[in-house]
Amino acid sequence: METTVILLKPDCVQQRLIGEVIRRFEALDLRLRGCKMVKVSRKLLEEHYAHLAERPFFPEIVAFMQSSPIVALALEGPDCIEAVRRLLGPTDSTAAPPETIRGRHGTDQMKNIAHASDSPETAVAELSRFFDETELF
Ligand code: ADP
Repeated sequence: METTVILLKPDCVQQRLIGEVIRRFEALDLRLRGCKMVKVSRKLLEEHYAHLAERPFFPEIVAFMQSSPIVALALEGPDCIEAVRRLLGPTDSTAAPPETIRGRHGTDQMKNIAHASDSPETAVAELSRFFDETELF
């Protein structure tokens, strides 16, 4: 059993796609363990996107991710980390197949609707980064 962390980004929230995107993840037969709206701090983003800190577009990502609250989800299911990433699609929305969430709703490489944990190790780190014990069920 795995728990994956999904962040519904500002482009998802602003386009009123929260319900639609959660519906598609739930349809994978995943159990919702946590769900909350949150304004992410710069410190949290610097930690979460540490692997991109040296990239020229990093300040743009921080501004984008702080442009509205986001929705953080924790979803549980057998081998769900890979299944969720597959349904989400590749980073660049313009290159994502139309049946994926990014292909259907994303705009570009940055505005791509949602984040999802990419390995069991990052999922564990992200779960404690975004949720307190009392927020998980
Ligand atoms: P993913 O979110 O698919 O795991 P990364 O970890 O590589 O992808 O990137 C994190 C986020 O940073 C992306 O989802 C996207 O919002 C943004 N990003 C990545 N690459 C670019 C880029 N070349 N230009 C603008 N934003 C980018």
